[in-house]
Amino acid sequence: MNKRFDSDVLVIGGGPAGIAAAVELRRCGVASVTLLEREPELGGVPRHCGHPPFGMREFGRVYSGPAYAARLAKLAECQGVQIRTGVTVTQLEPNGTVRIVDASGMATLSAARVLLATGVRESPRSARLVSGDRPIGVLNTGALQSFVYLRRLMPFRRPLIVGTELVAVSAVLTCLKAGIRPVGIIEASARPTTRRLFMALPRLCRVPVWYSTQLEEIVGTNRVEAARLRDQGGALRAVDCDGILFTGQFIPEATLVRGSHLMLDSGTAGPVVDQYGRCSDPAYFAAGNLLRPVETAGWSFREGRRIGATIAEDLQGGLAATPKGATLSVERGDNVKLVMPQRLALPLADSGLGMLQIRVTHPVDGVLEVSAGGRVVWQQSVNALPERRMLVPLGRLGMQPGNDTLRVAVRTRP
Ligand SMILES: Cc1cc2nc3c(=O)[nH]c(=O)nc-3n(C[C@H](O)[C@H](O)[C@H](O)COP(=O)(O)OP(=O)(O)OC[C@H]3O[C@@H](n4cnc5c(N)ncnc54)[C@H](O)[C@@H]3O)c2cc1C
Repeated sequence: MNKRFDSDVLVIGGGPAGIAAAVELRRCGVASVTLLEREPELGGVPRHCGHPPFGMREFGRVYSGPAYAARLAKLAECQGVQIRTGVTVTQLEPNGTVRIVDASGMATLSAARVLLATGVRESPRSARLVSGDRPIGVLNTGALQSFVYLRRLMPFRRPLIVGTELVAVSAVLTCLKAGIRPVGIIEASARPTTRRLFMALPRLCRVPVWYSTQLEEIVGTNRVEAARLRDQGGALRAVDCDGILFTGQFIPEATLVRGSHLMLDSGTAGPVVDQYGRCSDPAYFAAGNLLRPVETAGWSFREGRRIGATIAEDLQGGLAATPKGATLSVERGDNVKLVMPQRLALPLADSGLGMLQIRVTHPVDGVLEVSAGGRVVWQQSVNALPERRMLVPLGRLGMQPGNDTLRVAVRTRP
């Protein structure tokens, strides 16, 4: 280990991405890798997702979330990662110095490289601007899952579920497991956000799904008593319920990045990175769902592993500093909600993340185009939905010297 630092690499966040990166760093021979996690145990979100399927591609078998989290934690332990739980990172400073708080107080740690892997969370009520009373019984899926699976508590019995991303199906499963009967699911648009196929589950469980319906107001003095809903035609009706479960509308857990010197991207709401996961300060890298909302645990794990290998290479001097002018910035064009990475170090190759990941603002049928200097360098027909990723392999972009910007857009069919 470089004696100037407390560790060769500090990994912040002990979910699938952070653990996979820490394990890969050790496998690549990095001597001192410290994993910092604010919860009392490693595992991240899967710790409180009591249902399968997790782990198929990583371990060749299907686990429940907690069993998968336990397997990940064991892996980190066996690979000699220094694990510190109950540690919250509160500040990122230039050149790999971070401030932490744990039971013994505040401290500063430093490392040659720091990996940020703090994940995502769902938008809370406050970010959704829902009017009405402020009773108890208003939760996100993550909070419900930790009540049910970690603390064996039942926060409500008849909630209304808001949203139809895939996590709403998790919410239904969690409710049923705890003996909670949702009164219904509402979705503001006319179709589900996730694949229609997944919405068969609520139907099978006799949970009605109301499309083109919005939550107008929450009613209740102490506990939730009702929800006032508005349909597409503007008609209002009240539904009796004792809880509101807001699902999805994920945002990266980027509080640390926002309060730091690192650049933040308005599309993903995570840090600006290049294809190596490198942030605007090259001592910092990022991996997992912090990079963009939202992928599965398996995807985050594989991404963590790739970035872990890249950091190991960087410590050996393999990721040479990009010469001035040898970067491309990636811009969002029509119908594109986010693109990650937002910067590309030249020359482009399939190493690092190897792909541009793209999501659209709304369902769109058209042609995905990547252009440089007004010339289209990649195109593909797409029938895209906001919850689905689109991927463009970096090594196959027909780039010419002299361009400094790539533009990604989806042209709708006339
Ligand atoms: C409610 C919910 C349900 C989900 N359900 C599923 C599902 O069923 N299947 C699926 O595949 N994916 C699901 N996901 C997606 C989930 O994000 C991924 O499964 C995966 O956990 C992402 O891994 P990660 O390592 O990027 O982040 P996470 O698993 O979120 O891990 C991030 C870790 O960082 C820690 N952390 C954050 N900030 C700090 C800090 N300042 N200091 C120290 N530690 C910090 C957190 O405590 C956490 O343990 C769900 C996500 C949510 C929010």
